[in-house]
Amino acid sequence: MPGFELWGAEERSQLKDVLDNGILMRYGFDGPRKGIWKSRELEKAITNTFGCDYAQLVSSGTAALTTAMGALGIGYGDEVIMPSFTFVASFEAVVSVGAIPVLVDVDDSLTLNPEAVKNAITPRTKCIMPVHMCGSMADLGALQQICKEHNLLLLEDACQSIGGTYKGKHLGTIGDAGTFSFDFVKTITCGEGGVIMTNSLDVYEKCDGYSDHGHDHKGVDRGADLHPFVGYNFRISELHAAVGLAQIGKLPQILAIQKKNHSYLKEQLSSIPEVSFRTIPDPAGDSCTFLSWFLPTESITRAVVSELKAQNILAGNFYWFDNNWHYIRKWDHLKNGITLNALSPDHKAAVMAQATKDFSASDAVMGRCISTAIGLTWTDAQLQEKAAAMVAVIKKVLKQQTVSK
Ligand SMILES: *Cc1c(COP(=O)(O)O)cnc(C)c1O
Repeated sequence: MPGFELWGAEERSQLKDVLDNGILMRYGFDGPRKGIWKSRELEKAITNTFGCDYAQLVSSGTAALTTAMGALGIGYGDEVIMPSFTFVASFEAVVSVGAIPVLVDVDDSLTLNPEAVKNAITPRTKCIMPVHMCGSMADLGALQQICKEHNLLLLEDACQSIGGTYKGKHLGTIGDAGTFSFDFVKTITCGEGGVIMTNSLDVYEKCDGYSDHGHDHKGVDRGADLHPFVGYNFRISELHAAVGLAQIGKLPQILAIQKKNHSYLKEQLSSIPEVSFRTIPDPAGDSCTFLSWFLPTESITRAVVSELKAQNILAGNFYWFDNNWHYIRKWDHLKNGITLNALSPDHKAAVMAQATKDFSASDAVMGRCISTAIGLTWTDAQLQEKAAAMVAVIKKVLKQQTVSK
């Protein structure tokens, strides 16, 4: 990760097609666009690459989640169970459709703990939204079983796990709907963009209309379209889709590099008995964008983070526990219900109820976790140097801790 590291001639060439004919919009202008339909082409490439029946491109991963929720009928009074460790976009989308984000603990898979999910189910629960964080997956088998037993929707936030799989199927194609983000730092990028994937024609048609002002796209031209429901504008542009077409062609190469670098780094860190690794429900399906590892205690982890910083090698290593984008501990704006537009009082109270919940089980995992982003352009020498420096830092800190005991 991320795909922008491999920017090159392919992206420029795809963009040139769009710049040459000047049709930047994905719908209409059939004549002047001279057969150039980048968004449609990328949607086809997505269904082929990831093995789903339908794909709807939109302007961002956040828009993809919002659109998917609209299409799945998630709204007023509905509860969506989601993990305490994710990117803020996941709860933003839930709140924006009028639903209630119900945050629950993660386990050492760094995503939803199925037992915590079960305990959070109420008569208002409508959907379980696992977030496949940092390139790897939630325990989808267990979550599918819970959804079946309680008649719930499964919406996969696979924004960070493009190319990952679970039991042979691509993440994002397994639930009732799933999303990718193609923002600038994701595994493949459009600059900005996102997609909803589904195997349901009904969900797809709703996504198609919802993301373009409710247009049914069945008229002879835009003016003749009907509007069976209220929609919004979450359209992607042809320029962004063009970049995505070049990037999706590079996905096999990106995944191969990630796997190779990830495997070497993991092997090196494995030489330290105190280091353990994230649980991966289907290890063969890890997209390997990150290597996530644990130390025995929070204080050792903090000492390692400080030493990495002191030695100027912290870059690319993420200590999510202190990060205000990814972990509930720092989401004061959500916990205080601070929105610019007024929420209904019951909605606001339900959102703010997250503030008083006990997340000590998540803290016990996240306080000890460091994720190392896997570079795409590292030379073998750089990778070896990086691994050796990290191993030396960890050993140094562990030795100091033993001495100070
Ligand atoms: C990036 C991301 C999103 C949102 O994507 P944007 O395209 O930036 O709006 C949603 N969920 C997760 C887990 C993400 O990492």
